Amino acid sequence: MKREVFDILIIGGGVAGMTAAIYAKRRNKKVAIIEPFILGGQLAQIEKIENFPSYPLISGFELMQNFQKQIQNFGIKVISDEIKSVKFSDLKELVGNKQTYYAKSIIIATGLSSNKLGKNENEYLGRGVSYCVTCDANFYKNQIVAVASKSGSGILGALELSEICEKVYLLDSEDMHKYAENCPKKNIEVCSNVHIEKLVGENKLEKIELENADFLAVSALFIELGKKPQTDMFKGILELNSQGYILTNDRMETSIKGVFACGDIRANALKQLVVACGEGAIAGQYA
Ligand SMILES: Cc1cc2nc3c(=O)[nH]c(=O)nc-3n(C[C@H](O)[C@H](O)[C@H](O)COP(=O)(O)OP(=O)(O)OC[C@H]3O[C@@H](n4cnc5c(N)ncnc54)[C@H](O)[C@@H]3O)c2cc1C
Repeated sequence: MKREVFDILIIGGGVAGMTAAIYAKRRNKKVAIIEPFILGGQLAQIEKIENFPSYPLISGFELMQNFQKQIQNFGIKVISDEIKSVKFSDLKELVGNKQTYYAKSIIIATGLSSNKLGKNENEYLGRGVSYCVTCDANFYKNQIVAVASKSGSGILGALELSEICEKVYLLDSEDMHKYAENCPKKNIEVCSNVHIEKLVGENKLEKIELENADFLAVSALFIELGKKPQTDMFKGILELNSQGYILTNDRMETSIKGVFACGDIRANALKQLVVACGEGAIAGQYA
């Protein structure tokens, strides 16, 4: 059987992958996006967005629908599959759960996944629970919030929140007494060796129950336990930085010719929608 060879295959249908697809399609390339879920990636987790240019306020869901419509209008093929391994020679091979795909160029846009608390946080996602301080802090102006932290992973987030929130609990699972002594902000309460038991609230987060049966009344919990780039399958193949993000040049080219990376998966300075779109545009233009 003759195998189908694409000009460009894009792994991941978040905003970076979708933007790359739009740019590639407008160059008349034979392109497809491979995505196991619905198109949108992290957009699906965002309640409100107020920093995507030209939209004063839009929900993640609505922006996701706009993107999906644009992909459909361009007639861009979307393949429902998850890529499990890759072989990058002249012709690139992507091995999925369902079949193997072939392309001359690949764009990797597999994004990030946040480390989870492992409790019932999903029940309050977008209703008090957030994985992104920069994105959501403003919705909790002058309110009392908490940050779930491990070995200081939440310090930066707590400092950012302390600028606009009345009070911030920094709940760290390790000993933070040294930081507590030197914390520069009076409205941050640093709590050491804290283990969150469960989140409580009627329709939105109202309280955090701790392991010692104490309750903290908060409007929001920011989970700042670090993020994981989805790069396991590229280890030993592509050049990654020490945290596992893919290194590229300013045309989004990785260490292998014909393999590009864009969006949150890339070693970049800011993990935000507008950045992911911009990088997707460059990858789609040069792949
Ligand atoms: C709760 C939250 C709120 C946020 N709020 C804002 C905000 O207000 N403003 C802002 O600018 N940014 C915000 N962000 C950040 C923003 O969402 C991300 O920077 C952006 O979505 C990254 O897009 P991406 O396409 O690079 O990756 P992602 O959106 O992570 O997309 C990656 C896609 O790749 C797919 N994928 C992964 N592995 C594979 C595989 N092996 N095979 C095939 N497909 C795969 C995934 O299913 C996913 O769909 C927020 C993020 C979160 C989590």
